[in-house]
Amino acid sequence: MGRVVAVDIGATNLRVAVFENDKLISHSRTQTPRAGPQDLINAIAHLIRGLAGGEDFDSIGVASIGPLDLKSGVVLWAPNLGYGNVSLRDSLGREFRRPVYLTNDALAGAWAEKVLGSGKDVDDLAYVTMSTGLGVGAVVDGNLVVGRRGNAHELGHAVVNFESSLRCGCGGLGHWEAYVGGRNIPRTAQHVASLWKGDRTRAYELAAQGSLSPELLYSMARQGDEFAKYVVSYINRVHAAGMSTLVTAYDPEVIFVGGSIFLYNEDLIKPELVEYMKEYVGVFGVPRIERCTFGDDQVLYGAAATAINPPRAIAKYAYRP
Ligand SMILES: [Zn+2]
Repeated sequence: MGRVVAVDIGATNLRVAVFENDKLISHSRTQTPRAGPQDLINAIAHLIRGLAGGEDFDSIGVASIGPLDLKSGVVLWAPNLGYGNVSLRDSLGREFRRPVYLTNDALAGAWAEKVLGSGKDVDDLAYVTMSTGLGVGAVVDGNLVVGRRGNAHELGHAVVNFESSLRCGCGGLGHWEAYVGGRNIPRTAQHVASLWKGDRTRAYELAAQGSLSPELLYSMARQGDEFAKYVVSYINRVHAAGMSTLVTAYDPEVIFVGGSIFLYNEDLIKPELVEYMKEYVGVFGVPRIERCTFGDDQVLYGAAATAINPPRAIAKYAYRP
């Protein structure tokens, strides 16, 4: 029959969809509950019953923010939600008596390309999401790179500047995400402002106060603000450094890029990113850089892909009724 339920747990939105024969046929969403794990599980179950109640389906694929423990099927910590230790896999499995495949959102984004997207015929690809944080997923030799506990996607914590004093949310110094994760961009802009010798533009004034949000940054750059344009280039250079590390780690044929910051500002990011990458990668060369196939729905499609064609390492720890 080929009908699966896909669940995407984001920092802001919780989304559930039903896929039949690889096509999305219905979906619904709500705000991700912030009260605690049981509310989250209840909300997911409620959405699934609303969409698929009475209808039969084969399995459930869940893609969540935060680090996982695949073996126990638990989301260890959900950044931006303020809680962790969510026993997602077994709770949903017991509720619906179906196989449940749990994965991380960045891994799901990569698997979406391999199973359902433009990466179908590509054995080596990576996915980078530029949003609140910086996430990476990779498919190498046709297999999703998963890791011991399901967290082999943390390349956002690659060091892009070994002399940096900029501290990342994870505790380390000089990490890719510490510079360019959406929540860190105001701090990066403030850092750039402290070194700026040019005119004190409107974007400069906001940056100096630590309040140049990603939305303001890109819209002011588009309007021609010289300081904003400079910060955008600075951030593009950081992305180029991180993505060049990705190239040597995974040797991808194509890197698919998504996340709201990229999806809404591709014109300001991609051309410079490719030029800067040429300087960093040397003999390895710049792979194809492409917009991800499913845009804002990338992780939802990834959750579906995980249920439709479970990656080996995730199938091993699936809930089995
Ligand atoms: Zn970090």
